[in-house]
Amino acid sequence: MTNSQTLLAVIVLQQAFFGLLWFGMAGLKMARLPALHWGAAALVFALSMGLVLMRDQLTLWISVFGGNLGMLVGFVLVRRGISLFIASPVHDPEQVVVLLLAAGAIAYGVRGGVDFVIVVMAVSLSIAWSMGRATAQTATGLRREFGHAAWGCAVPLAALTVAWAARGAFAPFLPHQIAQSVTTAQAANTAIVMVSLLIGLVLNATLVALVLVRLVRRLQHASHHDMLTGLLNRRGMSARLATEEGRRARFGTGFALLSVDIDHFKRINDCYGHTAGDEVLVGVATAMAAELRGVDTIARMGGEEFCVLLPGADAAGADQTAYRLMQAVALKVYPDIDPGLQVTVSVGVATADDLQESVSALQRRLDTALYEAKASGRNRAVWAPPTQTADL
Ligand code: GH3
Ligand code: MG
Ligand code: MG
Repeated sequence: MTNSQTLLAVIVLQQAFFGLLWFGMAGLKMARLPALHWGAAALVFALSMGLVLMRDQLTLWISVFGGNLGMLVGFVLVRRGISLFIASPVHDPEQVVVLLLAAGAIAYGVRGGVDFVIVVMAVSLSIAWSMGRATAQTATGLRREFGHAAWGCAVPLAALTVAWAARGAFAPFLPHQIAQSVTTAQAANTAIVMVSLLIGLVLNATLVALVLVRLVRRLQHASHHDMLTGLLNRRGMSARLATEEGRRARFGTGFALLSVDIDHFKRINDCYGHTAGDEVLVGVATAMAAELRGVDTIARMGGEEFCVLLPGADAAGADQTAYRLMQAVALKVYPDIDPGLQVTVSVGVATADDLQESVSALQRRLDTALYEAKASGRNRAVWAPPTQTADL
């Protein structure tokens, strides 16, 4: 076996391994369609490389036509998978035209005896076209989501584009060299196969990493957000409060906290049904979020309870915000549920000026204030006095 043959056999195994890995990852339901495309591409590459490797055992027609068309199909699948992964158009008509033209040219090239110049030019330039387009898509689409990590994908794709374009462009000038199989014992062939092996490895490893990074980011997002309203959840708010507490300890900057609870929400569920209740929850969340500044944070703490963090706000500012939120909620209409439905909230308002007071003590004060707001008739904001004053 020549060095190239050994390396080709390694590529067959490598691509078969990635194929199985991608089919396994498709089971995660994350990036399922792209994973299936990349898995199919890897298996097609393994098969094509297998055909090239067995050129001496197979008819030249099967080996050359099958091997070259297989390579092109593999790259078309890689590109389609990338488009799906970054949710950009798949350009199917364009890909089909490229495939058909190349298949026609390869078939023409292998009629009777094999005209390697035609075959190599057709397959190389088509692959270069597909990879060039994939590079451009990746450079913009992936960068938006993954920043500089996207280069891990764009660079191997660009390298593939240049390599295949060069192969296609030089083919007419080197008819004897390209007519030889890459499996023949030549240093140049060993280098070509070695580079293909490396690019395949880097590209697949980067794609696996990007899928995993997206998965982890989605899990992190899901663990800190409420599915129904899209607001932060209790865990997300706890993290924000911890940050704010740290800032207060370091810089002495206080903050205000509002505890908001929808009035008689159970009645809405009972009268109009749970789905309507959900719609009201989203309506209240949206109405309140629209009233806040960029630095403020709102979270759904559970059920029909919300918490609003106002960094740097004093008592007057917190009061004002509480009334603005109450007004926004009261003005919100729900024509699909009942045009006459009026939803109100009760609010507990507190400022966190005391460096000694823990966040849980602050939240207890807010609970008391909210309870008072409910007890004294609802649809109102009640101030939670600092602990010392409350103790008097
Ligand atoms: P109050 O004015 O005293 O706050 O009365 P309330 O009816 O708003 O409060 P209560 O705690 O008695 O009822 C809250 C209801 O919120 C009970 C529960 O079924 C409902 N709820 C909790 N989570 C959800 C949800 O995700 N969707 C819907 N539709 N209802 C929910
Ligand atoms: Mg309530
Ligand atoms: Mg409640």
